[in-house]
Amino acid sequence: MKKFKKAVAIAAAAAMTAVQFASAGVQNVFAAEATVFPYTIEGEDMEGAELWTQNYGPAPKEWSGKGFAYLTNGTFSFTVNAPEDGMYDVSIKAIQVLNEEGRMQTCSVNGSEKMTNMPYSADWVDFDFGTFRMNKGENTIEFPSKYGYMAIDTVTVTKAEKHDYSKADGTCVDAKATAETQALMSYLKSVYGKHIISGQQEIYGGGHSGNYEWENEFLEDLTGKVPAIRGLDFMNYNPLYGWEDGTTERAIKWVKERNGILTASWHINVPIDFENYTLGDEVDWKECTYKNYQASNSTFNTANVLKEGSKEREYFEEAMKMLAEQLKKLQDENVPIIFRPLHEAQGNDGLYGDGTAWFWWGDRGPEVYKELWKLLYTTLTEKYDLHNIIWEFNSYDYESSPKWYPGDEYVDIVAYDKYNVEYNRGDGKSGGPNLLAIAGKFHSLYQLTNGKKMVAMAENDTVPALDNILVEDAGWLYFCPWYDGGEDGGTAFLGENYQDHAELTKMYQSEYCITLDELPEDLYSSKGSTPAPVTTAATTTTSSATTVQTTTTSAPKSSENVLYGDANCDKTVDLSDAVLIMQSLSNPSKYKLTEEGKANADCAGSGDGVTNTDALAIQKFMLQLIDKLPEL
Ligand code: CA
Repeated sequence: MKKFKKAVAIAAAAAMTAVQFASAGVQNVFAAEATVFPYTIEGEDMEGAELWTQNYGPAPKEWSGKGFAYLTNGTFSFTVNAPEDGMYDVSIKAIQVLNEEGRMQTCSVNGSEKMTNMPYSADWVDFDFGTFRMNKGENTIEFPSKYGYMAIDTVTVTKAEKHDYSKADGTCVDAKATAETQALMSYLKSVYGKHIISGQQEIYGGGHSGNYEWENEFLEDLTGKVPAIRGLDFMNYNPLYGWEDGTTERAIKWVKERNGILTASWHINVPIDFENYTLGDEVDWKECTYKNYQASNSTFNTANVLKEGSKEREYFEEAMKMLAEQLKKLQDENVPIIFRPLHEAQGNDGLYGDGTAWFWWGDRGPEVYKELWKLLYTTLTEKYDLHNIIWEFNSYDYESSPKWYPGDEYVDIVAYDKYNVEYNRGDGKSGGPNLLAIAGKFHSLYQLTNGKKMVAMAENDTVPALDNILVEDAGWLYFCPWYDGGEDGGTAFLGENYQDHAELTKMYQSEYCITLDELPEDLYSSKGSTPAPVTTAATTTTSSATTVQTTTTSAPKSSENVLYGDANCDKTVDLSDAVLIMQSLSNPSKYKLTEEGKANADCAGSGDGVTNTDALAIQKFMLQLIDKLPEL
């Protein structure tokens, strides 16, 4: 998450050019008939285009048809008549000779825009704008000039190929991944492309008066379901103002007590006045930043992290050590995590003139960034022996984005952070929830690894509509709205400005969407996991110790070791157990007892289920009116 400052110029331009579709032109005499794909139109035949035969720059060689169209201002458009809702690719044969470093060009389908950097070329080249959704019936394809200046010989529309989800790796890149980590990875792979897993970022720090369940409670009240993935951030475990806000403890509970899935980011801070900082100094959080040096005026030089012995390196080593301490606590409890460090590194890539990257870890460009990622990967896996991590990399869909990718051997999942309510909406509206499945971005990330890595929506504002995801073949592995830290008391990301509550409910209640109650009981057992291709000796060391213990932890207790009264399964019997029982009776959809909790809670009478007599028995026990539970 970063503050919204994306593409103000773009949004303004979009508002000006939005939805001014030309009426059917000469080429659309047969518009009522379904278009046959692949469909090619001469550039010069588009609505709004003129016939050109000479370029400003070097003269183009051979062209198709009578000549070409030259986009300087205005908009070129044409329509196709699609036989069904689905995804289509738009490509052009074009020339761009104005900017040697490339020039942004825009293609829009029914008002949904995609901007791409078109490389310099003195001769006709095929240029792919990517995948767009088209609806059954007439669809308008436009090339608004925006930054303009390209020659278009032909435009071709083809039906997009379906994604092949089976190509994605289901084996962790860390060959020493623990059995639980590999089991989780195998599960993710088993649902990828067939389902979407629900997720939700929790508030952290002191938000919602310290109620870290606020988001989950809100969602359960709204949809009757709890998200399967809990999103966290390890930002508060840092060398500067280290603040224990219980993140790690909540993480462990989420897996051990609720059998949920974890993901986390790491908004790691650096001191703004790094020059005058001495390692070990406490620094007030107001004097720290995770922003890029251009925005924060920080003297922390990210490139120096790569130099051994530099102060930046020492600082980063300390930060990694503190992070490792927390991740080790998870590993010791056999808890794996989808970890998304150094996220959103590319930022806006300097496209809109407001900095190069959102965060310091991206502010010295892709080469430094990739080395930083590898340093973190190697340090956590080798120095700290952490093998409970599924490594998730945030990507963008710019033409330059592949330069930021650390490499297949360091990444398990690629992810996109979707924020398109305020800017870059692509749906022609000016406000309210944006239900697009952003299939074009899904497709770009799929292509980034040629389908080899699963693609997730690691952060988002509006959860896309179920129907859009299905029609658009946008098989995001999971979604995870950012926490609801609204200053107005919580109407931000879960409020109606950002979520369509009816669509969100439909999503949560659908078969397609996996919620907490639908995760398999053996999620973290080795059953169903892909065995690592290792020698017998290695198998013994990597899996035997860890697997067996966990499988038993989440299994229901047999009756002889029921801890009567312990309704919340925290291994002690106290008033909170009685409270939970009363809550579960008055609002069963909101306050659920686990199977183990139910067995424990049934502590008065015998086997008659959980009633308020059980809560009363616990209170008597607390007051020493009875000396043991169950009360028979
Ligand atoms: Ca032509």
